[in-house]
Amino acid sequence: MATAVALLPSVTPSDYHRIKSPTLRIPTNPQVSIPVGILACQRDPLLRSLVTFVVSVIVSQPAAPPPKKLTKKAVISPLIPPDPILEVVLHDTVIFPEGGGQPTDTGVIVTADFTTWEVVQVKRLGGHAVHYIRVQGRTVDEALLAFKPGAKVTAALDQNGFERRYDHMSMHTSQHLISALLESRLQIPTLSWSLTSYPSPCYVEVTRGMSLEEITSIQTEANKLVFEGRRVYVEVEELDRDRVKGIQKLESGRSVGKALPDDYTGGVNRVVIIDGVDKNPCCGTHLPSIHNLQLFLLPHTEALSRSSTSSARLYFLCGPRLITHLTSTHNLLTSTASTLNCGTPLVPDRVNQVVEERKKAEKRVSELEAELAGSVAKSLVGEMKELAGHTLFKKHIHRIDDTGNALGFASAVSHAFSNLEEAAVIPHLVVITSSPPAQMPSSATIILAFGSDEGRIKQATEALKGRLNVKGGGKGLRWSGKFFGVWKDDREGILLEEVLNEL
Ligand SMILES: [Zn+2]
Repeated sequence: MATAVALLPSVTPSDYHRIKSPTLRIPTNPQVSIPVGILACQRDPLLRSLVTFVVSVIVSQPAAPPPKKLTKKAVISPLIPPDPILEVVLHDTVIFPEGGGQPTDTGVIVTADFTTWEVVQVKRLGGHAVHYIRVQGRTVDEALLAFKPGAKVTAALDQNGFERRYDHMSMHTSQHLISALLESRLQIPTLSWSLTSYPSPCYVEVTRGMSLEEITSIQTEANKLVFEGRRVYVEVEELDRDRVKGIQKLESGRSVGKALPDDYTGGVNRVVIIDGVDKNPCCGTHLPSIHNLQLFLLPHTEALSRSSTSSARLYFLCGPRLITHLTSTHNLLTSTASTLNCGTPLVPDRVNQVVEERKKAEKRVSELEAELAGSVAKSLVGEMKELAGHTLFKKHIHRIDDTGNALGFASAVSHAFSNLEEAAVIPHLVVITSSPPAQMPSSATIILAFGSDEGRIKQATEALKGRLNVKGGGKGLRWSGKFFGVWKDDREGILLEEVLNEL
């Protein structure tokens, strides 16, 4: 993952996390788990490691649900490996559990015996964060001993874990900023959003499509605030469900945003504030400032239709994803420019030119094919007139053709042939075969048989099926099929001539 952390302050300002209620205390008893909402990762989003204590541990019993179709959300959760897994609740943690549209962090826990354990996922269960710890290279009993309740451990975001988190924070804080501006400047509510897997653009789902001018105005406004470096901070108080505002609904019945999960118990009411711009209930981790969030909105919206309503997606990028996007876009453009042998600004014109030239070339090829097919048909008729008496005129033509549609040309010959007057008079049977220039055991040689007598065609093609294992079918006076393998004139070619001679 590309890093873009150079401008990040090394520590979270002390006034980032503000406890509004005089009675709310962060539990200090190491036997008690701090509820989700006031975890270390939420109080101090830049903290990368923390010494803490184990509150409880159990061996995870995998539920083994039937494999579901992967949704966008499912893609982003790291897969739980097949090793045994422990479910560990800590007193506190810097590893964020999934929630609020933000996926789980990954990280490590170092136990007192200096073993580093991989945290593959953290989930919120009720009000608490459960760490899913992979047991690898140790027995489950050894792992249970290392994580016995009361044990002192260090929970940390390793380099990969922090880059993943930094990306998620950048995208999540950007989403708050964009949604706030869409609402206040254009009165467009955000219905939902998706923190897609890195490095795809994330999106907000809004109630209508937007013009380029509207998108540009939101981007300009957002980047002005980014340049100002607006502060971000968090306010928490005890959760009073009676005071939690309900979710607004549109006329269509569609909810605007998401309600507080019903199973979130014992936690806090947490509001994330972008100074002077936005105030939004959210449990996610957010950067202490938006100053590093150079934002790019993809300059179009994607319309979505549902049965009851319609909406649109506005995609956005920032931070590490924006750099990755710029790098890959630049690489695509420069490699295309190099193939086209021109400077990058000329790429669109050159591509247009190539496409137009190709269209012309295709048209010319088909015209020449038609002309050639007519000429082949005429020479066939000429040969037929010379040789044919009262007997059947039999002819095999083998071609080498490097095309995906060799049957097209063979058919063109047969049609041109049947349009000539003589074709109706003299009994005949013509077989055209066409192989690719470089043949392999999987290559296909096409076979087209046409003639004046249905019975003869059937007789010949049945013989081909039997002797050359040819597959195919047809009706009336035309039959087409395929031979798979390497076609050789002195092997398959001879067998075909024998079949014709037997008629
Ligand atoms: Zn949020």
